[in-house]
Amino acid sequence: MPTVRFLALEETIGRKPQHFEAPGTHVSEYFGSHVFNQKAMRQYMTSEAFKAVNDSIENGTKISRDIADQVASGMKAWALSLGATHYTHWFQPLTGATAEKHDSFFEPTGNGEAMEKFSGGMLVQQEPDASSFPNGGIRNTFEARGYTAWDPTSPAFVFGTTLCIPTVFVSYTGEALDYKTPLLRALQAVDAAATDVCKYFDKNVNKVNATLGWEQEYFLVDEAYFHARPDLTLAGRALVGHAPAKGQQLDDHYFGSIPERAIEFMKELEYESRKLGIPVKTRHNEVAPAQYEFAPVFEEANVAVDHNSLFMDLMEKVARRHNFRALVHEKPFANINGSGKHNNWSLATNTGVNLLAPGKTPMSNLMFLTFFVNSIKAVYKHADLIRASIGSAGNEHRLGANEAPPAIISVFIGDQLSKVLDQLENIGGGKMTPEEKTDLKLNVVGKIPEILLDNTDRNRTSPFAFTGNKFELRAAGSASNCAQPMTVLNSAMAEQLIDFKTDVDTLIAKDGLKKDEAIFSVLKQYIKESKAIRFEGDGYGDAWKEEAAKRGLNNEPSTPRALDAYVSDATLQMFENLNVMSKREAEARHEILLESYFMKIQIESRVLGDLAGNHIVPTAIKYQNTLIDNVQRLKDIMDEATFETVAKEQLEMIKDISARISKILASKDAMVQARKEANAQEDVREKAILYYDNVKSYFDVIRYESDKLELMIDDEQWPLPKFREMLFTR
Ligand code: ADP
Ligand code: MG
Repeated sequence: MPTVRFLALEETIGRKPQHFEAPGTHVSEYFGSHVFNQKAMRQYMTSEAFKAVNDSIENGTKISRDIADQVASGMKAWALSLGATHYTHWFQPLTGATAEKHDSFFEPTGNGEAMEKFSGGMLVQQEPDASSFPNGGIRNTFEARGYTAWDPTSPAFVFGTTLCIPTVFVSYTGEALDYKTPLLRALQAVDAAATDVCKYFDKNVNKVNATLGWEQEYFLVDEAYFHARPDLTLAGRALVGHAPAKGQQLDDHYFGSIPERAIEFMKELEYESRKLGIPVKTRHNEVAPAQYEFAPVFEEANVAVDHNSLFMDLMEKVARRHNFRALVHEKPFANINGSGKHNNWSLATNTGVNLLAPGKTPMSNLMFLTFFVNSIKAVYKHADLIRASIGSAGNEHRLGANEAPPAIISVFIGDQLSKVLDQLENIGGGKMTPEEKTDLKLNVVGKIPEILLDNTDRNRTSPFAFTGNKFELRAAGSASNCAQPMTVLNSAMAEQLIDFKTDVDTLIAKDGLKKDEAIFSVLKQYIKESKAIRFEGDGYGDAWKEEAAKRGLNNEPSTPRALDAYVSDATLQMFENLNVMSKREAEARHEILLESYFMKIQIESRVLGDLAGNHIVPTAIKYQNTLIDNVQRLKDIMDEATFETVAKEQLEMIKDISARISKILASKDAMVQARKEANAQEDVREKAILYYDNVKSYFDVIRYESDKLELMIDDEQWPLPKFREMLFTR
């Protein structure tokens, strides 16, 4: 009977690419065909309903019940025309996955017949049981109900035969139980604050949207291997496994020619995504073998977040059609790169201006500088919260692991813009002579567009880098929901812009400064105050860790401790002032994140215990017995002297294997003990910290011994698919 590993190999090697051909030649023929977009709405809705929905999207106006009925009726007709049989409120609970409960359109009419029904009430609100989703103690058992409510700003879509309606998910008492609710509130706050600041420069601005362009990294592994590795199946990452002799050291995978099986998967995923209006544009090989990336064109942040969640769901489904599993864990394989999800972020006005892109005139550049400097100051003030927003059990393996930025938040802006900020910092401030103003406008502010053209230096080691017309948050993990960092970043920016407006208006009112003088003065002050967060050097080096500590920047590698920032005074105050989260909501979220952290480590620890006890140690013992048998027989047929020279290495090996087996078994027992102690801890923060300090610390010990055994033991006996097989079999 061959081992599991060889069965997996048999199934996998030589697997033919599953050819995929999109039905249309050009993407424009089917892009958005399954989205209830402007075109579909115009076709299927009354003009009154059409206007109301757009008004709600643009200005947040409420939709009346009567209009909701009209929208529902149009939506139903449209969905039925695409073959939909069911509808669902589609939402993003704090599990990290998307949630859906399908209801059929059909309803018996009472006379033995049936009709398809979908009313405004069904569109607007549903009441799923909130008790089965993470709620951080918000839900008491007597108020188990939660409800989902339609988010008209993210268009409905038909996937398969189901009409999916993007919704928020809140408790019966109105507290957010999902990712979307606080995100929408943060986006509203940044819209209001940014619009106010824009009025200094352009009175026509009356709406500012945050924009997000995500980049999704992932691994593709053949499903036969996936099933043969309990750690991949249950924890999404390989808990043991020696690095292959050849990994990524030759740099031959990045941007390399995409393997045919992978490309067929990508083609189908692109097709499914584009039907649903997800504007995926770029696909390529990433740094590690079997690692890839997809990136769309950026969109309004709420829609972009929904699209990323939907995309991850699609990726999983389509991967299965091609006998792959798509791994979105941040670190599926040790010793090669893990996966991130860059969040490219900017702000755009209704007048079509990107506020983080320099313009053509000094005035538009002053507007750019205003938003640019305020972004830096916002990140400076809430660096710890931004760090917390990207913290998870998975991402813990990436941060600071020489492939992703460390857990220190810093901002990279490039040489040229650093010079501009230095110049601004050194201006006089306060009232300026006409000459000073002209000089500033022509020689500093006026030079920015030219400067940026050759500002091509890209610092890949920075967690938050300015890349010409946007900031790129690079520290987020591949499995994360972008809503978390986006909620935090946009809240921080909103708070900052409100402060900025107050500061500028005060200078104008109290000191009698002109508007541009006041703006320059405040920017100058902010540049000074937030200087510590700016770092242009190598973020991976140890020198930076020392330097950052001197600057007072935090470097917290443990997720449970980093999460404290979710409930710090500065955070609670900001979230409450902006109406993004109440104290209760922030505390609940904190608790959910801690719970999710320790449960993930708990699962990994159990799986690792099983692997050690059921796979690794028995295999090692078996192989050791083979050696012992062999040595015993050598002894039988040889004289003492010959035996001693011939069997020396094998005897050493037997001892070595024994030592490693003991080490694994002892560590496993100690780990179980540590888990018991952690489980007995009531306080969830303390518990999560115990898991980090005392349970997780055994993972590397067990893995080290197991990986050594993998190299010693007969290849034919090793039960788990090896890295070289999983990463290089195409
Ligand atoms: P890279 O960073 O890989 O060199 P690009 O700079 O072309 O690639 O863009 C990466 C991502 O940034 C894409 O998803 C793109 O849509 C997004 N992006 C570009 N401009 C903006 C913007 N103004 N706001 C948000 N995202 C943006
Ligand atoms: Mg990028």
